[in-house]
Amino acid sequence: MKTLNAVCKNIQKNVSFKNLTTMRVGGTAKYVAFPSDEKELIQLIEFLSKKHKKYFILGNGSNVLPPDKKYKGVIIKLNNFNSLAREENLIHAGSGVKLISLINFAIENGLKGLEDASGIPATVGGAVKMNSGAFNFEISKVIKRVTILRGGKIISLENCDCGFEYRKSGFYDTDIILAADFVLEYGDKEELISRQREVLEKRQKLPKQPSLGSIFKRQEGLIVSKLLDEMKFKGVTFGGAMVSREHAGIIVNTGDATSEDVRELINYIKKRCLKEKNITLVEEIKYLNL
Ligand SMILES: Cc1cc2nc3c(=O)[nH]c(=O)nc-3n(C[C@H](O)[C@H](O)[C@H](O)COP(=O)(O)OP(=O)(O)OC[C@H]3O[C@@H](n4cnc5c(N)ncnc54)[C@H](O)[C@@H]3O)c2cc1C
Repeated sequence: MKTLNAVCKNIQKNVSFKNLTTMRVGGTAKYVAFPSDEKELIQLIEFLSKKHKKYFILGNGSNVLPPDKKYKGVIIKLNNFNSLAREENLIHAGSGVKLISLINFAIENGLKGLEDASGIPATVGGAVKMNSGAFNFEISKVIKRVTILRGGKIISLENCDCGFEYRKSGFYDTDIILAADFVLEYGDKEELISRQREVLEKRQKLPKQPSLGSIFKRQEGLIVSKLLDEMKFKGVTFGGAMVSREHAGIIVNTGDATSEDVRELINYIKKRCLKEKNITLVEEIKYLNL
């Protein structure tokens, strides 16, 4: 009988979710696997599927709320999928590449189109899955194709087949994003640097405490943070979780928050919005459940 270590050499045990998520909450992950390449990843998924063992692909953990209890499945981190290459105005990036490394690489090469995403603490895989963006920019605007592992096979999907919507993609939960190709415009390097600086300055106003960024999705005609500000949510606290005093759409960890504190605060906000404003808020963040 094969063991987990026989199919994936780099396994860490009992890793705290506090070190795996930007919210810095949660219990422990029994196993965290770092497959070295596609072959090892395929073997790992086959092994886990045969054993009916749960697994979860985690990027930088900047949009995931983990459980407080021990997660007995396997967290898969694609840090080793870190290729970054340019061919004319195309960039190929592995899903484990930090978004900021991709953006800086594009700027270095005088390629324009990604600067507005500066400051989003994502990996390429997480940003593609979430169709991340800021300032009216969405990463799908510059994606040419995405390579994924689906049903044990590696396939490439053109942008139009990825089902991109606002902060959403059409990949199945079982799809694993391996890499993405970005098509960019030629630009002036100094101008790109200056735009990036401008974007990062604007983001300085965001809270500095650990968070997951905006908790809820924007809705047609509704700026959620403005609504929550008007409803006086800023500073509302459940245990160690607090609605940021700087940005009402963001929940921060004031130091010793549990995941349950964050979940309770989210539910409280949702209930009041429904009761008092008849508005159903939808989470942008993902829950990692046991
Ligand atoms: C301070 C702060 C500011 C933020 N600002 C913004 C912002 O301006 N705009 C914005 O859009 N978001 C923002 N976010 C949210 C977050 O950074 C984005 O959603 C980001 O894209 C998540 O990337 P990640 O690598 O951390 O993914 P994770 O949070 O680790 O995962 C997110 C989801 O993607 C899945 N996933 C990750 N990698 C893969 C893969 N390789 N294959 C398949 N599925 C995968 C996970 O299973 C999970 O469902 C912010 C977050 C923080 C903490």
